[in-house]
Amino acid sequence: MPKDVGAMRKDVGMRHAADDRSSSSGVAVLALQGDFEAHRRKLSEIGIASFEARRPEQLMQADGLILPGGESTTMWKFFETLPWEQAIREFGASGRPILGTCAGAILLAREVTNPGQKGMGLLDIAVERNAYGRQLDSFIGQVDAPELGGPLPAVFIRAPRIRRVGNEVETLAWLSSEPVLVRQGNILAATFHPELTEDERIHRLAFEAVAVRARRA
Ligand code: GLN
Repeated sequence: MPKDVGAMRKDVGMRHAADDRSSSSGVAVLALQGDFEAHRRKLSEIGIASFEARRPEQLMQADGLILPGGESTTMWKFFETLPWEQAIREFGASGRPILGTCAGAILLAREVTNPGQKGMGLLDIAVERNAYGRQLDSFIGQVDAPELGGPLPAVFIRAPRIRRVGNEVETLAWLSSEPVLVRQGNILAATFHPELTEDERIHRLAFEAVAVRARRA
């Protein structure tokens, strides 16, 4: 019986482009602050291995990266203590998938207001933080996501609003005709918390390639 490609590669000592990272260990979930555990549960439900990233060098062996919700200002404080920003930029440039949710989307954005702070600019969007006002501080909405197969329940917690979307950015879901899920190449970002509902579509979409590789391995 012919061996599968993965086994053949091992036999001849060949390596896949991504594999100078030697043993990869699944999706890294940034675990400095915020709701990283819920993301790990969601990944495990769809059969994708993950680990908690607490040091930037851990990203080297990851197949994907999640920047979770939480408080983006606090995350930036952690980023000042170790070379996180450089590690995340290199990760993005390598083409591996990144999912940013809520505060994670704020970290990735090009422009950040209310209050203003630095954005990594890996995603060409402008976000306004805490932008739904006091009455709607946190709420569950139904977002339109035709490309994902239809409406999706979405938990918004002190969520940002996307105020500008660059030319290279596709919008994949809307809440009252405003973008709430956007993609630019390997970077996917939601202003809500897909890890807090039963729906698995966003994690599947972000890490499809990782899941396929895991099945082949
Ligand atoms: N309001 C937070 C911020 O500005 C984001 C909230 C969240 O991630 N749920 O960073």
